[in-house]
Amino acid sequence: MRIHRQLGFLASLVLVIHARPITEPADKDEITAEHYLKSFYNLTDVKTVFQRSASPLTEKMKEMQRFFGIEVTGELDKETLEVMKKPRCGVPDVAAYSTFGGSPKWPTNKLTYRIVNYTPDMLKAEVDDSTRRALKVWADVTPLRFTRIYRGTADIMISFGTKYHGDPFPFDGPRGVLAHAFAPSSGIGGDAHFDDDEVFSFRSSRGVVLFLVAAHEFGHSLGLSHSDVPGALMFPTYSFRDPGRFSLTSDDIRGIQSLYGPNRDRTPIQSELPTAPNACDPNLIFDAVTTFKGETMFFKDSFFWRSSRGRGVAQLIKTFWPNSPDNIDAAYENPVPGKVIFFKGRQAWAFNGNNVEPGYPKFLSRFGLPLSVRKVNAAVHDKNSGKTLIFVDKMYYSFDERAKKMDTGYPKRLADGFPGMTGEVTAAHLSKGYIYLYSGTKMYMFSSNSKRLLRVLKSNYFLPCLSRFNQK
Ligand SMILES: [Zn+2]
Ligand SMILES: [Zn+2]
Repeated sequence: MRIHRQLGFLASLVLVIHARPITEPADKDEITAEHYLKSFYNLTDVKTVFQRSASPLTEKMKEMQRFFGIEVTGELDKETLEVMKKPRCGVPDVAAYSTFGGSPKWPTNKLTYRIVNYTPDMLKAEVDDSTRRALKVWADVTPLRFTRIYRGTADIMISFGTKYHGDPFPFDGPRGVLAHAFAPSSGIGGDAHFDDDEVFSFRSSRGVVLFLVAAHEFGHSLGLSHSDVPGALMFPTYSFRDPGRFSLTSDDIRGIQSLYGPNRDRTPIQSELPTAPNACDPNLIFDAVTTFKGETMFFKDSFFWRSSRGRGVAQLIKTFWPNSPDNIDAAYENPVPGKVIFFKGRQAWAFNGNNVEPGYPKFLSRFGLPLSVRKVNAAVHDKNSGKTLIFVDKMYYSFDERAKKMDTGYPKRLADGFPGMTGEVTAAHLSKGYIYLYSGTKMYMFSSNSKRLLRVLKSNYFLPCLSRFNQK
């Protein structure tokens, strides 16, 4: 949680353009990175690369990598570029040096807003409703009250525009920057602009949900800066979530209440707010675990961790798989690397990369499971045998991926197939010849060939316990 510095937004958007010598053409990704760091990390000078000290580009790259909780290499690696290409808010992630200091906030709790124009993507009533609910998100937890006006100048002027739209910060066409907003002050302060080269939607994940973008932008309009807590509304990149079940995280609430105090009319139910789980919690029980392109991914609630990257920082499942359900029951990687199957309830989703495969979700019966099975606890695929083991209660099934049918002789009792396994399996994955069966807070390591129990470990054994959530 960080608070906007006065003038931070304006000052940090002063771009300094440096011509490159013609003999040294920058590649497209380098240009993307330089532009990104100039726009969002206050990178102003790239001339000093030849100095002995670390170049400002490297330092800004590291700053950005730290912010997003990815590996801090200072280099433009694949993961960094992936983050840079995500759709996001146009407000920088770092506040520039401010001569005034302090945190800008409105001097009154009674604010006005005006919808100046509309996007053609949605019905006017839908834009009105999205705007009203986006402001209500903040009014629910503060004494702030918003009144709509239809003419004249409101504190928060809301408008849609493309490219150059009347301020010094032109939009960039489809994707990239979705919107920006200005910290509280007179004039343009508080105003929120939306890039109408995006396709906005009321609640569908096929467009950018206006309510979600607007709620984020209004956070800036009220004085909040970007949060580095994944899952927080004020995180800079956009990710779809069901607008009907939206709620602020405790990080967002702490931020806004530090400026305006709590809502005295009613007490928000803090305990029900989604916060990222702690990877180092000794009582952590995973919903599902799967390999994914050589990594291992661990799922819990609406979040997941990656074994090899991200320093134990949880990310929202929907950031990777926008159409995935939360709180999944089980997951496995299909023989095709990068193709994963998620199970939840009686249904299964297949994803190729980030996208749902056509025809999914499918019912469990398509995997040869009897209709009596209401949910699966865990699933794991063995490349060598071509079989997927599906765990249900204290039994397990074997699905032949090539023949697309259940093997005969199943289900088998867990204790018969995996001697030493007494409880139910809650998650499973296979790597380097070992099959790992999770049961509650413990993980049982078996040889995948002999099915002999080798070790019993804590369930979060594979996660680096360097999480910032641990330090709080
Ligand atoms: Zn923002
Ligand atoms: Zn603007």
